[in-house]
Amino acid sequence: MAILGIQIPYRLPTWEDNGAYEALLRRHSRCNASECLYHGGREQAEGSGPWQLLLCSSCAAEGTHRQCSHLSNTTATWECDGCAGPGYQHR
Ligand SMILES: [Zn+2]
Ligand SMILES: [Zn+2]
Repeated sequence: MAILGIQIPYRLPTWEDNGAYEALLRRHSRCNASECLYHGGREQAEGSGPWQLLLCSSCAAEGTHRQCSHLSNTTATWECDGCAGPGYQHR
């Protein structure tokens, strides 16, 4: 049995932040590239490497696999067309 009786702090700010971010990642975990190259499909991704999914650093509403946007394996941030190109009006 686990040892109970430890006072659990009422607020857990860092845990909540991480949870919110992961929930966001999960909710938007799909590749929005015009042509997705991943064999597993747009909704699958890997934890690291060329097939890791990156979310737009500005709106977090679009995502891409690194390979689908020709990003290097060490690229950590990415912006979708809508945020990166102000003159680009798609749909
Ligand atoms: Zn993709
Ligand atoms: Zn964006």
